[in-house]
Amino acid sequence: MMDMKSAGCDERGIFYSETGRIIIYLSNHETYDDILSTIQHELIHKCINDFEETLDEKQEEDLIYQMAWANESLV
Ligand SMILES: [Zn+2]
Repeated sequence: MMDMKSAGCDERGIFYSETGRIIIYLSNHETYDDILSTIQHELIHKCINDFEETLDEKQEEDLIYQMAWANESLV
């Protein structure tokens, strides 16, 4: 389940593992592509959670960052 909110938080998006819910804060984005990147970012958090991987918060953020830039770093 994913909700879009226009304001109310300093974050760009949040995934709540307790409820499996994603909230995207539209006002913290500048472009449509930016919003899509955040949706992808939060969905990866959800996928990692769904597969019950045991990564700490830093490992998870690093992994998602590497995935987001994989096209550039593999060339
Ligand atoms: Zn994150």
